[in-house]
Amino acid sequence: MVGDVPVGGGAPITIQSMTITKTADHEATRQQIYGLAAAGCDIVRCTCNEPEAAEGLARIVPRSPVPIIADIHHQYRRALEALEAGVHGLRLNPGNIRKPEHIKTVAREAKDRGIPIRIGVNGGSLDPALYDKYGGKVTPEAMVESALQEIAYFEEVDFDLIKISVKASSVPLMIEAYRQLSEATDHPLHLGVTEAGPPPTGTLKATAGIATLLAEGIGDTIRYSLTADPVEEAKAGRQLLEAMGLRERKNIDLIACPSCGRAEVDVYTVAQDAMTAFGEREIPLQVAVMGCVVNGPGEARDADLGIAAGNKRGHLFVKGQNVMVVPEDEMVDTLVEWAEFIHEHGADAALEKAKATKDAARKAAQEDRDRNLGERGEDANESEAVIAEIRRGEG
Ligand code: SF4
Repeated sequence: MVGDVPVGGGAPITIQSMTITKTADHEATRQQIYGLAAAGCDIVRCTCNEPEAAEGLARIVPRSPVPIIADIHHQYRRALEALEAGVHGLRLNPGNIRKPEHIKTVAREAKDRGIPIRIGVNGGSLDPALYDKYGGKVTPEAMVESALQEIAYFEEVDFDLIKISVKASSVPLMIEAYRQLSEATDHPLHLGVTEAGPPPTGTLKATAGIATLLAEGIGDTIRYSLTADPVEEAKAGRQLLEAMGLRERKNIDLIACPSCGRAEVDVYTVAQDAMTAFGEREIPLQVAVMGCVVNGPGEARDADLGIAAGNKRGHLFVKGQNVMVVPEDEMVDTLVEWAEFIHEHGADAALEKAKATKDAARKAAQEDRDRNLGERGEDANESEAVIAEIRRGEG
C-alpha cells in the first residue's frame, strides 16, 4: 500500500507522476498535485532534496488528495525527514545512497512506520562499482544486480515493503532489465523509460517500453517521464492503461475514420473539434466521427454513438441506427449533447428519445447515401484501377 493505494498483488495498475515545483513552495506544489489527481494520477512523487523540501512535505501531505512519495537524492537524512513529514512512500536511488548503514537506517525507520520504499535504479546513475564490473557499460544485468544488492540490505533489517524500478532512457535496455528483474523477484515493479524527452517522441518511447512489459504481464505501477507539464504524464499513463483495458475508461474513446475519396467533410477537423469539445468530461463512451454516411454508420456500428457526414449535414447514429439529422456546423455540439444523454440514461433511452425523428433520419441518410454513390460511383477511391495495376504487374 502506498497510502490508501494498493500496488502489486493483482491490484489495478496505478499511474504516477512527479511535481516539477520546488517542494518547499508547498502552495504551488499542492496546486500541481491537485492538477495531477484531476488528470487521473494515483500517486505523486515530490523531490526531497533539501531540508526546506521536507518541511514543504509536512505541509503538503495532510492536504494532498493522493499519496505522496518523497524522492531522495544523495542525503539519507532527507529520507528520515520525509518520513517524519508523513510521506506515504520513499524512493531511494541505490546509485546515489551507497553506504549500507545509511540504507539500513532508512529501511529500519520506514519499517517502524509501515512505509514502502521504491528501489529506483537508474541507468544514468548506476553504482560506479557495478558499472565497472560490467565492462564500463550499463547492462540489464548490472541494473538488476544493483536492485538485488539493495533488497539484500533491506532484508538484513527485515524490511520488505519494496517496489523496484530499473529505468533507462534506452527502450530495449529497460525492457530487458525489467524482464530479468521480474524473473529474479516477486516485489511489485514500477515501470518507466527515464528521460524519455518531450512529446510526441517521448510519449512514444515511454509507451513502447511500458506497453511491451505490461502486455507480458510485467509491471504494477507506471510513470511517463516526459519533458512536459506533468499533467501530460498522468494523461498519457491513463490513456495507455485505458487503451490496454487495464483500467476502466474515464473519458471518451473517440474513434474517427481515416477519411477517403468518399468523405463529405474534413474528418480531421471535426474529430479534432470533437476531442476539444469533450475535453476532460468524464463520459466513458466510444464516439465515432465518420466522413460519409455511405459506410460510416456501418463501419462504426459498435460505437455507442457517432456522426457521419452527408450533404452539408450530419447523420447522428446510436448503436448503428440513424436517429437524427443536424446541420454540418452543429455536428460536434450534437455529439456532446447526445453523449451526455446516453451516459446518463443509456442507449435504449436515447433510441426511445429518437422515436419521432428516426424515420426521417433514416430516409435522409438513404438520400445522402444514394447521392454520394451517384456522384462518386461505387469506387470512390479508384481501388479498382490500383488492383488492375497490381494485376498487370503480376502478369
Ligand atoms: S468510406 Fe466514409 S466512413 Fe469510410 S473512410 Fe471513407 S469517408 Fe470515412
